[in-house]
Amino acid sequence: MNLAEWLAASARLRPGAPALLTGTTVDADYATFASRAASFGAALARDYGIAPGDRVALFAHNCTRYLEALYGIWWAGAVAIPINAKLHGKEVAWICSNAEARLALICDDTADTFNEASYDLPPGLAVLAIDSDGFDRARSGAGSKAPVARDDDDLAWLFYTSGTTGRPKGVMLSHGNLVAMSLSYLADVDAVTPEDAALYAAPISHGAGLYNMIHVRFGARHVVPESGGFDPDEVLSLGKQLGNVAMFAAPTMIKRLVEAAKRRGETGEGLRTIVYGGGPMYLADIREALSVMGQRFVQIYGQGESPMTITSLKRALHADVDHPRYLQRLASVGTAQSVVSVRITGANGEVLPPGETGEIEVKGSTVMLGYWNNPQANAETLKDGWLRTGDVGRLDDDGFLTLSDRSKDVIISGGTNIYPREVEEALLTHPAVREVSAIGVADPEWGENVVACVVLTDGAAADDATLDAHCLATIARFKRPKRYVYLDALPKNNYGKVLKTELRKIVK
Ligand code: ATP
Repeated sequence: MNLAEWLAASARLRPGAPALLTGTTVDADYATFASRAASFGAALARDYGIAPGDRVALFAHNCTRYLEALYGIWWAGAVAIPINAKLHGKEVAWICSNAEARLALICDDTADTFNEASYDLPPGLAVLAIDSDGFDRARSGAGSKAPVARDDDDLAWLFYTSGTTGRPKGVMLSHGNLVAMSLSYLADVDAVTPEDAALYAAPISHGAGLYNMIHVRFGARHVVPESGGFDPDEVLSLGKQLGNVAMFAAPTMIKRLVEAAKRRGETGEGLRTIVYGGGPMYLADIREALSVMGQRFVQIYGQGESPMTITSLKRALHADVDHPRYLQRLASVGTAQSVVSVRITGANGEVLPPGETGEIEVKGSTVMLGYWNNPQANAETLKDGWLRTGDVGRLDDDGFLTLSDRSKDVIISGGTNIYPREVEEALLTHPAVREVSAIGVADPEWGENVVACVVLTDGAAADDATLDAHCLATIARFKRPKRYVYLDALPKNNYGKVLKTELRKIVK
């Protein structure tokens, strides 16, 4: 099926229900949302010659028009390439060329970056700003009643990985992948009702945007904050005004949200479900979040290649404080989601038993069709339907998965593997440490040494000796950092992920 059919169905069932909101202002009800998507879909074919299967890049900041454009693309049977609005012009050009995009949808705020990129954009690429009169005309003309028919295996979303470990790769996600992901949300994350509000405080171009589909299916509200992005105070206010909010937040966003809630003496009223993931959530941080904001949290572990869907740690498990393995479970990423199987493999591809650490592999209906135009990466990553995640971890007897790290981030010192996350978890329990990222730096004697890049808590002081003593009291001697580097902030991408590649350039 075509995902746009979910929009058509909601428009039939709940035409007058509020669909798209900016803050608390309703921009469109479901009938209007669907008719704009249908009109824009028709304009894509008529004015731009877009045929089913053609790629359309969406290089724009969060706004409600983003969702109209996305569903318009699907209505026409075309493929959306949502591009992180903070990318460099060169990277945008590279993605458009790699994907052989035919049209790029931009907005006022991304126009300058896009125009800088124009020197190496693919020839014949058309451009339309979604906040222009041209888009207004395109979304108000005649449109077909039903979306173009698509099969489950047809491409819907070409998702470029954020490139934290190298050049972005185009992950091919089909309509069927995204339907499976959406249904898994119901089974593993949360129920959805028409009264709910999906709040896009993180970029729609990434994981956060993927949750729009299940909310379209149930005719719920889609809310873009007025700031267009993540402002913790605005999120807390919107929670109270909208009620029944479901949102995705990267762990770094949760930290800021918790700080704001504490400062305001609030607990996050109205923010019913906060899904976190996309990067490590340290035990100290989730415990603090639970104590300040209560039971609102669900963790997911996924990656573009199996979007938002590998494992989840349910809300109830966050509350199960009397369980003998409560803390161990809270530090894990939960158990396999309903539509996938998860296994751990060793260096020769052999399947490892519970308790042993190796590469995490996943198989199931959310696993991508493959990388766009990249047979070598496909051969390295997909085997017999199993996706090699590049992440290292172990399962316990009850099926809980604990992530060690990405295989590329593992530090090998004196022939022994050191997982940066363990070092980071240890340092974060020191009150003077606000944020930390551990990396391996080449060393002639040991191969690599652990270097901890530390951001200190405002007003706090700590020196190497203090932090070293703290590590000695918490982790094995050989794992403790050989060096500390103090920074004002850690380099992060638009999604709040620490860019270890950048850190390695800073710390030589
Ligand atoms: P690239 O693949 O180009 O390096 P990326 O790392 O940003 O980009 P994404 O698909 O955005 O790719 O992120 C997926 C990765 O994020 C996972 O493979 C895992 O390493 C990490 N991750 C996701 N969820 C969690 C989680 N709950 N806890 C810890 N790490 C997570």
